[in-house]
Amino acid sequence: MTTIIDGKAIAKEIRKEVKIDAISFFEKHGRKPGLSVILVGDDPASCIYVNNKQKACEKAEMNANTIKLPKNTSMDELLDVIDSLNTDKNVDGILVQLPLPEHLNAELVLNRILPEKDVDGFHPINAGQLLQNKAVLEPCTPKGCMELLKRSGISLSGLNAAVIGRSNLVGKPVSMMLLRENATVTICHSKTKDLKAILKNADVVIAAVGKPKLITGDMLKPGAIVLDVGINRLEDGSITGDVEFESASQVASYITPVPGGVGPMTIAMLLKNTMLAAEAQNV
Ligand code: NAD
Repeated sequence: MTTIIDGKAIAKEIRKEVKIDAISFFEKHGRKPGLSVILVGDDPASCIYVNNKQKACEKAEMNANTIKLPKNTSMDELLDVIDSLNTDKNVDGILVQLPLPEHLNAELVLNRILPEKDVDGFHPINAGQLLQNKAVLEPCTPKGCMELLKRSGISLSGLNAAVIGRSNLVGKPVSMMLLRENATVTICHSKTKDLKAILKNADVVIAAVGKPKLITGDMLKPGAIVLDVGINRLEDGSITGDVEFESASQVASYITPVPGGVGPMTIAMLLKNTMLAAEAQNV
């Protein structure tokens, strides 16, 4: 029997837990935990994401402050905004919505955020600490994948895991997290020669590629646990993952749908990270 992992329900549970923590934080410190989101320009998708983050924070009894800057904001102006948030005691977490307009250097911008306020977990200090199993703030989507596995009662120790995709955002960090849980991890990418052979031996598959239905049921080991991170918009406007759900769900023991699987976990983990950042900076 295949279990469909309900990311929406698990994310809701986490958001409730964070709200309880946020209320205790308020009782202890006399203010709500605070997240500042910087949005440069008016990319419609980014505006929706930022709006969703703002609403989720408010529902979780956190302060959300969205700073909207014009598309032609200069590097110096943007860095000044980050510097002022870095020193603001009421701001626990800072997030710069990506992608940034082309004239801005995203790497320099993200590196300017204080590591302890870097709720996206992208700062090199936080990435390095993840390698050493010491990170407090870990990237939200990979962290969401691990939470889905944990809350589904799956123990990873000794399992073969295949991660498809090696981005700094998802593939690499989730590989380190699986390794930390004692899985034997194979990282696959665009130059991997025989993906099918690797998948046939994989007890856990995490697909983070961005190619609709790249993984089909016949490629999977029977009983595989499959998490689909991919979000691909099809011509008809619908959204699909990197895994062909219809065939894969016939073979997998656990599988996440798209939408409603990994997606909702990203914002839940952002709230969790903001809470962790607030607690760590206000002991
Ligand atoms: P990316 O483009 O940075 O990385 C894609 C990776 O896939 C690369 O490492 C590349 O080597 C690998 N790849 C490409 N073709 C391949 C192939 N044929 N076989 C094996 N590997 C191949 O993408 P990303 O930022 O890691 O995102 C991946 C997907 O996850 C996208 O669809 C993105 O929209 C989605 N995503 C979802 C969430 C969420 O909240 N659910 C968050 C981040 C990303």
